[in-house]
Amino acid sequence: MPSELGNPSSSSARSGDVPVPDYDVYIFDLDGTLYLGDELLPGAASTIAGLRQRGKVVRFLSNNPTKTPEQYADKLTRLGIPVAPDEVTNTITTTLWWLRQNHPQAALFPIAEKPLCDALLTAGFVLTDDPAAIDIVIASYDRNFVYRDLQIAFDALWYHHRAILIQTNPDRYCPFPGGRGEPDAAAITAAIEACTQVKCSASMGKPSPLILHAALAGLDVPLDRCLMTGDRLGTDIQMALDTGMAAAVVFTGETRPGDLTEAHSGVHRLGSLEQLLGGHLPRLSTFEAVTSPMTR
Ligand SMILES: [Mg+2]
Repeated sequence: MPSELGNPSSSSARSGDVPVPDYDVYIFDLDGTLYLGDELLPGAASTIAGLRQRGKVVRFLSNNPTKTPEQYADKLTRLGIPVAPDEVTNTITTTLWWLRQNHPQAALFPIAEKPLCDALLTAGFVLTDDPAAIDIVIASYDRNFVYRDLQIAFDALWYHHRAILIQTNPDRYCPFPGGRGEPDAAAITAAIEACTQVKCSASMGKPSPLILHAALAGLDVPLDRCLMTGDRLGTDIQMALDTGMAAAVVFTGETRPGDLTEAHSGVHRLGSLEQLLGGHLPRLSTFEAVTSPMTR
């Protein structure tokens, strides 16, 4: 292990392969952090297994509202990280949580794909496309978005002056392997804002702390015992900085080491996810040997 172990205050203590201090709850972004597309990233399975072995609580966050938590749990489990659906919080989970807390009786017009619409119906919310009855327009990542949706949102927000506008997530685009991507919920939010001049009043996705609060609901743990690990400075890391929780950045997704600024001086820089296991577990080679079935 590196010599910095005994000198955590050195300038290099937050970079390279230095173990990270101990926390109670470990929250992970998914794409770019634990996997890329359909490939698990190095150390992901062994790190999650090691954290669980030590009795740590692990949670998984995604801004993507086009899949259910069950689908994410299935994918992670298939890739070699066994996960239960209630350990995954995405913007479907967060939208439901926020609406139950703040607008349990609201009539909703979700511009959204089937998983979010189904979840809202299952939770007992009324969905309507009658602009005179809509209380909340939900702008989401909807690959079936058409002009009719925009007209209904426009009528509810601008003509009837009765609805508010919220969004599932603030992402401009969803990145794909190979450098491509798809327009995401920010584009649909912007279309509605442009024609109505009504500003979106709440966002459910990172960097909004709402997704964090939804993920930690029911866990009686202070934020300073939680660590957020992710690959995006503007979402994963910003949410942590805004809420005062600790953060760790990986360089397997969007961020390059040179992107970090003075604002990120307290962020742990991970050359490897295994740094999250600290210095308390068996040496990596022993640990990999013990858990090899989980890592394949
Ligand atoms: Mg990511």
